[in-house]
Amino acid sequence: MKLPYAEPLTPIAPSIPVIPEPRRRGEPGGDPCGLCHQDEGIWSDEHWVLHIAGSSIPGTAWLASREHVDSFADLPERLAADFGRIAGRIEKAILAAGDFGRVHLYRWGDGGAHFHVWFYPRPVGMMDAVKFALPVWEDVMEPAPQPAIDDIAKKIAQALG
Ligand SMILES: [Zn+2]
Repeated sequence: MKLPYAEPLTPIAPSIPVIPEPRRRGEPGGDPCGLCHQDEGIWSDEHWVLHIAGSSIPGTAWLASREHVDSFADLPERLAADFGRIAGRIEKAILAAGDFGRVHLYRWGDGGAHFHVWFYPRPVGMMDAVKFALPVWEDVMEPAPQPAIDDIAKKIAQALG
């Protein structure tokens, strides 16, 4: 694993904690939720909507629940159980759509309080970007051309049916 910056990197101390933390979109006191009225993405069913991201790695996608809940701990039992099923299907669809070594899942939730999980495909052989370096590389690399993103989105959607 390697970060996309020249070494030596200089460690810094974390900033002073911000307490109380700023309100996120979609939580009481925060800006309105942007996902309660989301579009249908590249694929959807009665519980989930899969969106493709404008990204330096075509195939980067994020899955959102239709229901406004915050995190895994807040998912109703039926959705929590269904998440594993659908995450596996999406992983398989992404792996089949491009030359990827692995698909990483990330759930941050620091921006919005509506459940969403990121799927980051790591290009095959890109060993610099294993583990948590992948989203850093994704952020630093040049954005992929939109036709490449659209092409893989179409393949993922077709695989999901
Ligand atoms: Zn919402």
